[in-house]
Amino acid sequence: MSEIVIAPINFSNPELIEKILSELKKYLPYKINLQPLQIDLNFAYSIERGQYYSTKIIQHLLPFSENINGKFLALLEVDLFIPVFTYVFGEAQLNGKVSIVSLTRLHEEFYSGISDEKLLIERSVKEILHELGHNFGLIHCKDWDCVMHSSLGIEEVDIKGIDYCSNCKRMIRL
Ligand SMILES: [Zn+2]
Ligand SMILES: [Zn+2]
Repeated sequence: MSEIVIAPINFSNPELIEKILSELKKYLPYKINLQPLQIDLNFAYSIERGQYYSTKIIQHLLPFSENINGKFLALLEVDLFIPVFTYVFGEAQLNGKVSIVSLTRLHEEFYSGISDEKLLIERSVKEILHELGHNFGLIHCKDWDCVMHSSLGIEEVDIKGIDYCSNCKRMIRL
């Protein structure tokens, strides 16, 4: 494990990405490389739901991870779903190399109409660490101070801690 590639897909705001990465670096002792990509995501779009099928996007991204000795996490600005849920913040291959996180529902505007960049960055870092945790082989943690606690709604993202608990850290040797 030598690197983590963060791939913003079709992203309009490189400054936001830089801010997220500099926060992320505080929690991960790995080299983090940025690889912005332009990918047509139409194949994953559901007309009925007006959302993008997360699992299909992960499948599509697998080839991008082949030459990476580490993990590949894509950041998206489109709303994601898997069939059993109305939406997901992200999805990861458990013990695999690829994960994705959508920022759509991490924006405070989405809920209150008021923009809050600091909160957006904190939520993004939490969800990135969470999905990478699944890539590292971690399952959901009962500890609310742990970033591996499950979060079905944004309140739960805000309540849980931003770092891995000592137990989870030990399991992934952080
Ligand atoms: Zn999870
Ligand atoms: Zn934990």
